[in-house]
Parts: sequence; C-alpha cells; structure tokens
Amino acid sequence: MLRAFASRNGLLVTDIFTPIDHSRTADEAVLQIESLILEGVLRVGDQLPAERELSKQFGVSRPILRDALKSLESRGLLTTRHGGGTYVADVIGQVFSKPVMDLIATHPKAASDYLEYRREIEGLAAEYAARRATPEDRALLDEIVGRMKASYERGDFAEEAEIDVEFHNAIGECAHNIILLHTLRACYRLLSNGIVLNRMMIFNMPDAREKLLVQHLAIHQAVAAGDPVEARRAAMDHISYIERAMVDAARSGDWQRVSQLRLKQRAEAEGGKTRAGGRG
Ligand SMILES: [Zn+2]
Repeated sequence: MLRAFASRNGLLVTDIFTPIDHSRTADEAVLQIESLILEGVLRVGDQLPAERELSKQFGVSRPILRDALKSLESRGLLTTRHGGGTYVADVIGQVFSKPVMDLIATHPKAASDYLEYRREIEGLAAEYAARRATPEDRALLDEIVGRMKASYERGDFAEEAEIDVEFHNAIGECAHNIILLHTLRACYRLLSNGIVLNRMMIFNMPDAREKLLVQHLAIHQAVAAGDPVEARRAAMDHISYIERAMVDAARSGDWQRVSQLRLKQRAEAEGGKTRAGGRG
C-alpha cells in the first residue's frame, strides 16, 4: 500500500510517481505532483524523493524536474528545508485566520458553532467514505482502528486522542473530495492547536472513553460495510455526543476552567514549550 501506514508528521514518499511520456517540459511533472496533492496522496510535510530518484521515476531529465519543482515552490505548494529535501507545503487546511482562531478559542458560542458545522461535514465525509473507500483506504482504516483499540486497552489517553484525529483524517481522505478534506483538516487543526479541547472535558465524564470507542467503531463498521446512510448517521451521532458533553461541561461550570487551561496551553505552545497534541 501507498502510505505504508505513516501517520502524523509526514513521510518520505516513494514509488507513487509515474513515468512521463516524451515530455520536454516541466508541465507534466507539475501536473502530476499537483494531482497527488489534490488527491491527498501527498500530504503536508511529506518529503519528495531526492532529485536523482525523482527524475528517474518520472523519466525526465534533471533540468526539467528542477523546473517543475521550482514552479511548484514559487507557487507555495512545495518548500525546501535547511539541510536539503523538498517537502509538501502546509497548504491543506489553512482556512481560519489567527483572529478567527482567537475568537473560537475565547468564545463558547464559536466552539459550539464549530461542532455544529463539524457534525455536518463529518456526516458527509463518512457517507462519501462508505461509497468511495478503496481497498487500500479500508486497509488503512482497519489498521488505525486496531491501534485505537490497543491504546484504549492500555488506557493511554494521549495516544487515544491522537489516533482519534488520525481516524477522522483518514475518513476524510476516504471521502475523496479535496474541498471536504480541506475544511475537515482546518477543523482538526483547531483541535491539534489546542483551540478546541473537547477531549479533556469529555474524559472527565463517566464512560466517555468507552462511548467514544464504540462510536468510532460504528463509523468504521458502516464505512467498511459500504453503508453510506449508516455511516453518516454514526458520524453525526459521534459529534452530537461531543456537543452534548460540552454543553454538560459548560453547565457544570467546567467551561471556565477548560477555557483558562486552553489559553494557558496555547500560550505555552506558542512559546514552543509544548508540542501540539491532537484531540477530537
Ligand atoms: Zn472522534
């Protein structure tokens, strides 16, 4: 399989590029890399093979490849890093500006708007995933769910939260719609930046971990069974549960505490002291 179960921070991609027939320009290579980014095969932070290897895979000369990379770089789709290497730039999921993120971080109303919106797009993503997931997609979901169960058994909260986001991300990819993926990623980014910390609140509730696991398994099962109606329902139920949990947390006065925690964590994260832990 293509992605070799790489998660989180991107990987060095190999053998996903196809030879280009007799092209003397960079256009074909540009088009192919763009398509791979659009389809979500190449993900943010993924490293492209070295020039020599990449030109071999495309079957183009190195000057032509260099033109292609330069063009993609100038348009902000690729970046190069110190010490070499070409990477997919952070373009997917850049939807919210900093002022909007700050609004969401400080106002419960915005956070509930977030969940209301997310419920709809998660439902849509799961529905599309049930219709469109390829055998490779399904294998990836199986693998993620396997790890999800294992970390639940171990009671590893942090890992569970990370796999949670990974799972939703994978469902988004299985939906095969770049616009949907883009907006979903923007939502997960709010989670991983610690702007919406629903996991932290929800973990305080009785049976929450078990309920979340059961909900994720229901989404997975419906997608695996190719049942779009059930997949949508399961995904929307999952987010509805989180919404209710947040309302309960707000009612019990927990909101204030969490809100302060969140601001503290963000301040620390911006100071580079903590890594951003994904939650959702
Ligand atoms: Zn979830």
